[in-house]
Amino acid sequence: MFLAVHASVGAITGNVAPDPISAFTIGFLSHFLVDMIPHGDEYMYEGYKNGARVRRAILYVACDVVATLVLVALLFIEQDFFSTRNVALGIIGGLLPDLLVGIHELRTTRLLREFHRFHMRNHHFLIKHLRKFERDIPMRYGLLLQGVVLTLLVRVVL
Ligand SMILES: [Zn+2]
Repeated sequence: MFLAVHASVGAITGNVAPDPISAFTIGFLSHFLVDMIPHGDEYMYEGYKNGARVRRAILYVACDVVATLVLVALLFIEQDFFSTRNVALGIIGGLLPDLLVGIHELRTTRLLREFHRFHMRNHHFLIKHLRKFERDIPMRYGLLLQGVVLTLLVRVVL
C-alpha cells in the first residue's frame, strides 16, 4: 500500500488516540490491517526481488516517499490537531513496518526476516482467504484503488 495511505491512516488514528503510546501502537497495528486490502504492488515487489524491474520499483517508492513527505508537511501546516505529538507518532507507527521491510531488503537479521514474513503474510491474507486466489489484483487496479483510498483519506485529514 502507498506509504501516503499508511501515513494518512496513522494521522487519523493518532488524532483520536488518547495518549502517545496508544497513538504509536494503533498506527503500527493499522499498517497490517490496511495492507490486507489487496492493492496490486506484489508484482512490483517481485520485479524488484528478481531483478527484472528494479528501476521501476525504486522510482515507485521514491515517488511514494516524496508524496508522503508533501502530505505530512501539508498535514502539519494546514491542520490544527488535538495533539500534534499523537498525530506524528501515529504516522511514524503507520510507516514503521514498511521501513523495517526496507531495512530487511538492505541488510537483514533473523528478527527482520521473521518480521518480513509476518508482514507479507498480512499482504496475502485476504487474497488467499477471501478471494481464493494465489495472486494479488492487477497492479493497474491496485494503483486505482490506492488512489481512490488516498483521495478519501486526504479529504478526511486535510
Ligand atoms: Zn506494508
